[in-house]
Amino acid sequence: MIACPGCGANLTFDISSQQMKCNYCGNIYDPYRFDNMEKDADESLVFDVWVYNCPQCGAELMTTDETDATAFCPYCGNTSLLMDKMRKAKRPSYIIPFQITKEECKAAYLREAKKAVFTPSEYKREELIDSFRGIYMPYWSFRVEQQGEAHIEAESPSSRDGDYVVTDHYDIRAQIDTVYDGITHDASRAFDDEISECLSPFDAHKIVPFTPGFLSGFYADVADEDPGKYEKRVKEYTELETARKLLEDNGVRATTSDLMLKGVSNVQVPSEIGSVYRVFYPVWFMSYRNGNNITYATVNGQTGKVVADFPISTSRFILAVLLAALAFFIPLNFFFTLKPGAALAVTTLLLIIGMIMTRRENRKLLDRLEGTQRETILGKISSIQALSAILTIGCVILAAFILVTNPVRNKDYYIPCFIEAAVLFLTIFMNFLVQKKLATRRPPQFNKKGGNDNA
Ligand SMILES: [Zn+2]
Ligand SMILES: [Zn+2]
Repeated sequence: MIACPGCGANLTFDISSQQMKCNYCGNIYDPYRFDNMEKDADESLVFDVWVYNCPQCGAELMTTDETDATAFCPYCGNTSLLMDKMRKAKRPSYIIPFQITKEECKAAYLREAKKAVFTPSEYKREELIDSFRGIYMPYWSFRVEQQGEAHIEAESPSSRDGDYVVTDHYDIRAQIDTVYDGITHDASRAFDDEISECLSPFDAHKIVPFTPGFLSGFYADVADEDPGKYEKRVKEYTELETARKLLEDNGVRATTSDLMLKGVSNVQVPSEIGSVYRVFYPVWFMSYRNGNNITYATVNGQTGKVVADFPISTSRFILAVLLAALAFFIPLNFFFTLKPGAALAVTTLLLIIGMIMTRRENRKLLDRLEGTQRETILGKISSIQALSAILTIGCVILAAFILVTNPVRNKDYYIPCFIEAAVLFLTIFMNFLVQKKLATRRPPQFNKKGGNDNA
């Protein structure tokens, strides 16, 4: 805890003024004023923290405030965190202090929640939304240095020349001297990589040197992921970036344009990890436990981007589909008294429109996702789309056949109508299940014993 020089009360970091503020006398102070730059035995910079443990899931959170009456675990929703003893934590080099206030965070979440019409209203309750907590998430920030001769193999798009397909191959060699700085990866095992990928980017230009004052009134998660895990990925990323920049270089483009990289293995760029340092990025975090499932809502504390699971209620969904079907067919039957042939034509048209719309929805959903989660969902959605495409084509052929042969009995039209409606409903329902699955998680289980880098 940092005491107010004026009155002795607790100072907390105030987001709107970006200063330390006394909640008792209202004075504000520069956060760097209270820093004593403490070092441990190995001369690395440390600062005092109290560590909270969650007995339920094993998560660990740090805070600079000694007493936190409202402590609860943001990862599993457990309401009794145990306070561990005071410890020295390794000091991050940089931090992006919270820019989005809690009020702005709540408003951003509510805007998204209102769009989720199939989500039960309990996810929009005031008390739940008020449980957003500010957590600084630890990241590893990498600096990559590239110096020496880069060698890249590229090719031109293939063109046809009579019976031949012609592809030109190019060897590009260049002397480079490049530095990439601020490439970050999530350093907390508790903080789901999927969420951290979706919450990014943070604007690394806005980082400032760390001082413990920024943590006052917030939690910070513990950096327990080994930075070595990301080194290969970081190097590969910068090598590909350099290769892409080289292909766009004016000198290369003057010789030939439209070059394409052949692949990662054809890119040789001498690169080395120059340094790895600790940074803290701000995240507003909320979790809600519902039976065996848990849902997370997070808001980027710098940009206000919302990444939230909005669970869909099955009953709300089916009700909505039935209402939509009734709203469509009742007026049609009352006012236009459709002939069986016309009814079949309209249903077929509806089926085709429905398929196009679910495909568009799927594309939007996939655009929102990243990384491994996107791969899994892409696989599921592709098989659903393939199945429903086959069924739809079958229905359209059947409908065309009936409309052409023009049978006499009414049921020869109405049974296909019913089948088409069923196919449409099935497609929507399968897509709904994918979305529903996407919004539920199992409560986490972390094994924090060992592997902790705090002294
Ligand atoms: Zn004061
Ligand atoms: Zn927990």
